[in-house]
Amino acid sequence: MDFQRILEKSVSHVKPLLNQGKVADYIPALALQPLEQFSVSLHTVDGQTYSAGNCDAKFTIQSVSKVMTLTLALQRYGDELWQRVGKEPSGTAFNSLTQLEFENGIPRNPFINAGAIVTCDALYSRLSAPLHTMLESYRLMSGNHKLGVNKVVAQSEYDHRYRNAAMAYLMKSFGNFDNKVEDVLWSYFSFCAIEMNTMELARSFSYLSNQGFCLQSNQRVLTKKQTKQMNSLLFTSGLYDAAGDFGYRVGMPGKSGVGGAIIAIVPNRFTISVWSPGLDKFGNSLAGIAALEFLSNELGTAIF
Ligand code: GLU
Repeated sequence: MDFQRILEKSVSHVKPLLNQGKVADYIPALALQPLEQFSVSLHTVDGQTYSAGNCDAKFTIQSVSKVMTLTLALQRYGDELWQRVGKEPSGTAFNSLTQLEFENGIPRNPFINAGAIVTCDALYSRLSAPLHTMLESYRLMSGNHKLGVNKVVAQSEYDHRYRNAAMAYLMKSFGNFDNKVEDVLWSYFSFCAIEMNTMELARSFSYLSNQGFCLQSNQRVLTKKQTKQMNSLLFTSGLYDAAGDFGYRVGMPGKSGVGGAIIAIVPNRFTISVWSPGLDKFGNSLAGIAALEFLSNELGTAIF
């Protein structure tokens, strides 16, 4: 299959959409990103990477980081983690507080903010230097040993942390939070502000298309069973309250972030990453979803 040609066709396909979304402005440093950018990469299970568009451009991965946070937590806690966070779609916005109150401080799933923050709290209890461990994982799996945090974005998120802090304190009031809220939030924002391009992003999550094994680092990251579970959760909850629409249009497990990145997984074949900072009303990359829908049709790779 001519992956390169198909990726390039996706760039032309989304061009008319690039000025239609809205950059995330609740994090002031993210609002500075120029809107009209798009890049796409595909990384196969035998280690080939193909890219098109603005593929050297770096962006902060934002909520895509929640997948690696969950991965590191599952490595350390296994199924015990599910006592603190659920596995159901939320049907509410990524930063909603209401459900958390009704459900006694147990977030619906690890891919909404509250769920990722409580997962960070769990990791914080087991790691002496969480950011160092997180960066090492990305560096090994992406093959770029210089990956780092965009400190301006991390600081901007921390300075505007009110909703995320409210969630963390609410969970603490229900007894579902062990460490100091501000310390855990700083870790969480640093993970969100890790910066890379789409090639590095596709490689970093290639273990999800390869039954839990990362070829680049030659490491088993998750067991086969955990990989199946992760991909299932991504399918039902990876795109916030637009997960149903994404599943319908794209037919693959995926995870988005408000920086405009999305990863999508085709088990046993490849991982695709897209990035375009203009978001739709759910906080997902508008051109990114359109590109994945186009690619799933062209490549015939929906999982169903
Ligand atoms: N750092 C962002 C926040 O906490 C992540 C949200 C997202 O990408 O969905 O609000």
